[in-house]
Order: sequence, then structure tokens, then C-alpha cells
Amino acid sequence: MRNLPQGYDNPEHAPAKFCLICGAALSFDAEGSCRWACTRCHWKHEDAPQPAANVMIPVGHEDVEEREKNGTLRIQRREDALDPEQSRLVTIQRKAPPFKGKWAMPAGFVNSFEDPGEAAVREAREEVSLAVRLLRFVGACHPLRHTDARFAMNNIVLSWLASVEKDGDLVPADDASDAALWDESRIPELCFSSHKFIGQGWFAGKYPWSSGIDHIDFDSDAANADTVDLAQYCIKCGAPLGWSENIGRSRCQDTENCGWIFWNSPTPYSRAVLTNDNTILLRRQDGMWNLPNGPVPAYCSPSEGMRAAFRGGREIALRSNLTAIKISTTNRIDIVFGGQFNPTEPNDAADCLFPIRSLPDDLAPNDRRIIEHFIEGTYKETGSQR
Ligand SMILES: [Zn+2]
Ligand SMILES: [Zn+2]
Repeated sequence: MRNLPQGYDNPEHAPAKFCLICGAALSFDAEGSCRWACTRCHWKHEDAPQPAANVMIPVGHEDVEEREKNGTLRIQRREDALDPEQSRLVTIQRKAPPFKGKWAMPAGFVNSFEDPGEAAVREAREEVSLAVRLLRFVGACHPLRHTDARFAMNNIVLSWLASVEKDGDLVPADDASDAALWDESRIPELCFSSHKFIGQGWFAGKYPWSSGIDHIDFDSDAANADTVDLAQYCIKCGAPLGWSENIGRSRCQDTENCGWIFWNSPTPYSRAVLTNDNTILLRRQDGMWNLPNGPVPAYCSPSEGMRAAFRGGREIALRSNLTAIKISTTNRIDIVFGGQFNPTEPNDAADCLFPIRSLPDDLAPNDRRIIEHFIEGTYKETGSQR
């Protein structure tokens, strides 16, 4: 069983037990799907990793003032480049499991059809009451890995570096019970390995203070909400779903015993700008040329998802995370890598090489924009997270 945790096929630890669409009991590996699937209506629990957005906010020593009355920290807007040695990072104490009571950076799940960068800005506003501006994407990774299905996490974490955009008080709210500024010595105490990794990267000077944010404005009409309309039953207990005004989502109506929430999270896809000299690798798909791409498989990181798109084929080397963007017309997030392909290997049937300055006319418009931004140097490349 590729990449799935131990015991995934055990009904006791199944990630889904009932069909989302018709409510029938699921069985494992129905029709060779290697997933929990419905034998009545053929719905398959794809189990795509749930994307979370994470925001790292450094604050300069000179930008903080303690209010006399109650000790609240007042933080000033930052425009000039910030020296990591003269800074601390915004942290929150978690109000809810997992890691309740532990410290982390402001973070949370990306909502249905939400841009992941906007989700990062929203989390800063909701959890620490700060208005921030994103400076650059710093990476995508799997947060923690466990081999046992009972403890496995099926998430990916997308992280941005941000600066404080408006003067404001550091006040915890929403999922945070406290907020504070931490210096380098306390970063190892953060509860998520991904937060530790980028926090240490900040203090090591790995993420220069420069703007490298993608401003691709994809069409925002024609959102495909089919799955929302079709979802009728709780996948955990089989009870009907009902709309909850409170949380703005469909939820299991057996709130006493179950209360499962249907997030309808965006599906993460990996894509890559793979070059060699002045040549780029494109893939023929749905009658158009595309950047090579594939869904991030369950319990995998985005870089593993990218390699899976070349399974058994060409050798590739991923160099960096470039960006993570929303594709508006479907409920999908694209995590874009930069890297190289090995030019001496034979082509996969659907892959072809093009001069990067002479792209084919029938290239998917989103991918054309990504490649143009890549050529213009919009993306500030930093090492990719595994
Ligand atoms: Zn079904
Ligand atoms: Zn339920």
C-alpha cells in the first residue's frame, strides 16, 4: 500500500466509514481502488491532504512598545528590511487540540475555494489581531509523520513570511489563548516541526526581506460547488448532514455523538517549472500543454506529490518552492516548484521539451502566467521543504 499508514485498511481506524453521497457503508479497496469506497454508488474517499496556511511574522525590537495600562504589546507597521538578529517572531498558544496549550505560529485550515495566501492573512487577523502583508512564500511540507493510522496526520502546511502592515495591538483571539513575541532561543519549543523549520530558517537569514509574492489574478467565476450539493451523509457515523449557520459549513446532525464537519477543503496539486538550459518540460493533458502536475497523494508532502507525477519516468530534481495559488474555477490549490529535468533520458509519451522563450500557443493560460512570472524573476527562490 503506497504511502498509506499502517492499519489504514482496518475498519476501526478507517478515515471514512460511510459514503458521503448515499450513506452506505464503505469497504476497503472496492474495485481495486486502494481506498475506502462505496460499493453502491462508487464514491471513493480520495483522502487528499487537508491544506493549512501558516504565517511567520517577524517584529523588530524597535517596533514594539508595551502599553503602560495593561502590558499589551503595541506593534508598529514595518516597511524597511528587518535584520533577523534584531527581531522576534509572533507566536500563539493553541486553544484547541492537537497540541492544546502548546505554542505555534498563527495558522489554520484553508477554506473551501479560498486563496491559501489570503488564508494566511486571515489567520494573522483572527488569531493575533494583526493586519499583515505577505512578503514571500517560504515553503510547503508535511507537518509531522506517523506510520500508525491512529496518529497519522493527513495535512500539508503552506507557509508565508509577512510584515505587519498597520500599527496594532498583539491580542489573542479565536483559536489562540495567548500571544507573544519569541526570540531565537525559544523557537525549538514550537509544537509543529514545520514551524520550527521555518523559524530557524528566519533566524539563520535564509529568507531575505524582499517581496516575491505571486499576483496572478485567475478568473473567479464559475466556481464548481458540485461536491457541496452532493454531500448528504456523515462519513464517520452515517447520520445525515445539515447546514450549520454557526460554523458556516455542513455538519453531522448527530452533534452529541459525532459532529463531524464537512470542510470541503481545496485539493492540493503539485506543479513544476522544470528547465534545463533554456528548455522547459511541458506535458500534454486534456488537449493542451501544461506544466507537469499531479494531486498530492494521501499522507504525502507536495514534493512527494511532484515526484509521483513522474513515477517510473524521467529523473527530476526539485530545487525550490515558488508559490502556492488558488485555481478559482475548481476547489484546488497549486503548489509550484522550480527544478531541473535530466535531458538525457527518453521522453515520457505525453511530455515534450520547448524553448522557454518560444512557448506553444495551446498552453494552459494559468501555466503560461506561472512561466512568465518565473522568467521575470517574480518568485524569490528559497530551498524547498521536504
Ligand atoms: Zn455511496
Ligand atoms: Zn457523524
